[in-house]
Amino acid sequence: MKSKEEPELPSLFKMIRNFSKEMVKYIKEGTPNVTIKDYAIRLDVCQKCPSYIKSSARCGECGCLLEHKAKWQTSECPLKKWPPQKFDTKEDIDMLNG
Ligand code: SF4
Repeated sequence: MKSKEEPELPSLFKMIRNFSKEMVKYIKEGTPNVTIKDYAIRLDVCQKCPSYIKSSARCGECGCLLEHKAKWQTSECPLKKWPPQKFDTKEDIDMLNG
């Protein structure tokens, strides 16, 4: 259930446009993912962000589902809150890719 204190989502049109842009970038670069550590750090930053929509786990700035967006190496936080990525071990990346 949505809390009254949660930020509003962007319009459906904006969410589709934002997600499409992120998806095209991700596919164009060969679907690279961040490491598990960076993924966890990104999600932690999001969960502390005033723009985070807890009920749907979406970003209130772009409307994207953070479960996916935070995993994509090509994604950026709209407010530039995510720290720079650390490109470490292949093992981490393989674990994230399944
Ligand atoms: S992507 Fe950025 S703006 Fe959106 S919830 Fe996460 S930290 Fe906040």
